[in-house]
Amino acid sequence: MTANREPTFRESVDLMFNRAVALMDLSPGLEEKIRVCNATYTVRFGVRLRGQIQTFTGYRSVHSEHMEPVKGGIRYAMAVNQDEVEALAALMTYKCALVEVPFGGSKGGLRIDPREWEEHELEQITRRFAYELIKRDLIHPAQNVPAPDMGTGEREMAWIADQYKRMATTDINYRACVTGKPVNGGGIQGRTEATGRGVQYALQEFFRHPGDIAAAGLSGTLEGKRVVVQGLGNVGYHAAKFLSEEDGCKIIAIVERDGALISDEGLEVEAVRGWIARHGGVSGYPEGTYVSDGAKVLEADCDILIPAALEGVIHLGNAARIRAPLIIEAANGPVTAGADEILRQKGTVIIPDMYANAGGVTVSYFEWVKNLSHIRFGRIGRRQEEARHQLIVNELERLSADRGLGWTLSPGFKEKYLRGAGELELVRSGLDDTMRTAYQSMREIWHGREDVTDLRTAAYMVAISRVAASYRAMGL
Ligand code: NAD
Repeated sequence: MTANREPTFRESVDLMFNRAVALMDLSPGLEEKIRVCNATYTVRFGVRLRGQIQTFTGYRSVHSEHMEPVKGGIRYAMAVNQDEVEALAALMTYKCALVEVPFGGSKGGLRIDPREWEEHELEQITRRFAYELIKRDLIHPAQNVPAPDMGTGEREMAWIADQYKRMATTDINYRACVTGKPVNGGGIQGRTEATGRGVQYALQEFFRHPGDIAAAGLSGTLEGKRVVVQGLGNVGYHAAKFLSEEDGCKIIAIVERDGALISDEGLEVEAVRGWIARHGGVSGYPEGTYVSDGAKVLEADCDILIPAALEGVIHLGNAARIRAPLIIEAANGPVTAGADEILRQKGTVIIPDMYANAGGVTVSYFEWVKNLSHIRFGRIGRRQEEARHQLIVNELERLSADRGLGWTLSPGFKEKYLRGAGELELVRSGLDDTMRTAYQSMREIWHGREDVTDLRTAAYMVAISRVAASYRAMGL
């Protein structure tokens, strides 16, 4: 990279990787083995639509198979290309290692604008793409398990699962071939919200550490923090919704494709989401001020900036003007390597993508385990847990009555305490634990080593050392 050329997404990931390995003690051979992308499959296939054969280009990239299956979303966007898919696959390897999810890294993409096609056409295209990948074991419960990403959701995942079932008719574990499926199609409660929920848990964990809050030049709790969100899709919507409804944050701006909405009083996330669904964008929304140059709003004065749309939105051209003291990368790769350097020098704290948006893959892991075990979480133990709690409550009430103590339990206690955890509560609990533990592993390096001054380098170091450990365990 020259001083003023913006690196590509993959170059950015490599530069960040190199910065971390320079501080580690890996043999050059192992370092190279971890960095390189193992394989990328490119497919061009035709589908007869609207009276003619339409040709589509898709990719599935496998970055590292130190653990299998490999895992990573499938993205539908016109900007999809090999460089991007490989960068995203690499990030998946590091992300899984950081949050201790036992998968290697992969990613897929289809060059398509999903908004240009009818639902039945998208189904045909998705099934055909899935067919090409399944044929080569690039979708397989034991080898390669996709998930939703930009432009795809549970509908596409359900088509993929069904396509796999048609082709692998005797595979009892067929449902584990893809995650992010609808709950009534083998999915898991809490998967759709998982990435946004993980962003919330990540911020909650950050705000448990006064030293970290101070490092970002902030103080207090999440309550009242002024937040700018870019992209009100799956990730951005859930993150903004939970942070505003449950943690008291104020969403002072929402940046979308067609511009941005700004309101110092705070925007109602649910209402804006509904407006976008009906009108295709934010313009015309009755509350707040509409600004057509959305990108400029990333530079707004706020406490927390959440880029949750696409990569490369904070770059050499605008990094110096970004005023948020804390950025949490809900999207993958929203800050280029060049911008990262500028922001670090300014003292901006960045909670890196590989950690911040790991909620999706974490709950995907839970879904995969559920599919392989063929049983919903909580089904065996829930009533037993309730019965044991009931015993304690009965005993307390008996003691109080026998001894005339007049004890009364606080209102609502009994109901809350007696209820055994269902699947959604267990999923959220597992996700919260994962986000806390992973943050602490990054934090130990961030604060424990003088030569590490940012969370991203710390995250790469944790992840790379874990991948290296599993290669060493294989005798490499
Ligand atoms: P999505 O398609 O549901 O949402 C993307 C949103 O960004 C849409 O609302 C879209 O209109 C908006 N957008 C597109 N271009 C924009 C622009 N130029 N300016 C402002 N807004 C724009 O996608 P998603 O699943 O929410 O993914 C968003 C990011 O999060 C991606 O980087 C993806 O890789 C990452 N991610 C997603 C998941 C997941 O579980 N879905 C998991 C991990 C990471």
